[in-house]
Amino acid sequence: MTKPISTRTQNIAASLTVAIDTMAKQMIADGKDVVSLGAGEPDFPTPEPIRAAACKAINDGKTRYTAPVGILEVREAVANKLRTENAIEYEPSQIIMTSGAKHAIFNALAALINPGDEIIIPSPYWVTYPELVKWLGGTPVIVNTTIESGFKLSPEALRNACTDKTKAIILNNPCNPTGATYTKQELAGLAEVIVEKDIYCISDEVYEYFVYNTAFCSAAAFPGMPERTIVVNGFSKSHCMTGWRIGYDAAPAPIAKIIGKIQGQATHHPSNVAQYAALAALQMDKSHVNEMLAAFKRRRDYMVSQVSEIVPEPVRPPEGAFYLFAPVSTFYGKSTPSGKVIGGSVELCSYLLESEGLAIVPGAAFGDDNCVRFSYAASDKTLQQACERFKRGLQSLK
Ligand code: GLU
Repeated sequence: MTKPISTRTQNIAASLTVAIDTMAKQMIADGKDVVSLGAGEPDFPTPEPIRAAACKAINDGKTRYTAPVGILEVREAVANKLRTENAIEYEPSQIIMTSGAKHAIFNALAALINPGDEIIIPSPYWVTYPELVKWLGGTPVIVNTTIESGFKLSPEALRNACTDKTKAIILNNPCNPTGATYTKQELAGLAEVIVEKDIYCISDEVYEYFVYNTAFCSAAAFPGMPERTIVVNGFSKSHCMTGWRIGYDAAPAPIAKIIGKIQGQATHHPSNVAQYAALAALQMDKSHVNEMLAAFKRRRDYMVSQVSEIVPEPVRPPEGAFYLFAPVSTFYGKSTPSGKVIGGSVELCSYLLESEGLAIVPGAAFGDDNCVRFSYAASDKTLQQACERFKRGLQSLK
């Protein structure tokens, strides 16, 4: 066949977080000695009430099509969660259940982007944002933040990045990969600019429960924001449901309608069974979340202290999520025992995987080649092994 395939698709990069996770899991399946802090995938099991609800749903015959937007009960439960936990009002008709938060971001961007529209993305960013924007015909406008500013976007930087073509900003709070978490006051400053510039906000809040020293606040909880904010969330991280692929968009009514239409054509709806599982997740108390939060806080402190022992630059303790984004550029230019020169984060991570069997993600995937990302949503033993391998690998560089 000689006909060219989609140019738009050829121009997007594969997800490096997904690629590294897939590769590490395959290496482990092949019997190789690999320790993976690649993907952000909680090591806890899906809580029992959720598994039981899914089994019941299957046995009750909830195995047929649902409406494209999802079943009413779960959309009501999401609306109730947003009202009671986040003080934001979205009607059940404004909620669309999706196949995970990534799919919810895709839906939101697909509903908003016209060719050439600019989408502001603070950097470091989650790998997927710029690629989805490009895929859908938009232009990602990357706005760099610095470690000194806690990797946070300022209202001034946002204002300066806005042009006549700006359609939306993607805010990820808490942030993957940096763990930066905006305070209510900081978010209020950004919300003011978003309203002033009359742009949309896609607020990815998938790590909302994992904040260590600030209270979480939704970007939609400010005057003028609900009518322009699409809240994205999912159950993968909060309820250890990565493989279930279930999340949602909460969107202003006209956008919710369009997302429902997109979904009706693209996937019909997320799994009926997973929707009942999500309903059970929303009905549970938060004791499992509190347990995870305590474990992640302890693991965060462990990782920061261990990585600080080997990395000369200051390592910033993340305020939220479960990733450590550590600076490693002082090792660039050094040679591996086999004589290869480490040019950047991709080469460093390849070297660590090959020589030490340690899977971590290069900062280049997140727009910052000076750093590497560790996921500490892994057992204490795995973290300990990972730190030993990281230290040994870096100490072997000359
Ligand atoms: N969101 C997780 C991560 O960043 C899972 C992999 C992915 O979807 O990117 O590691």
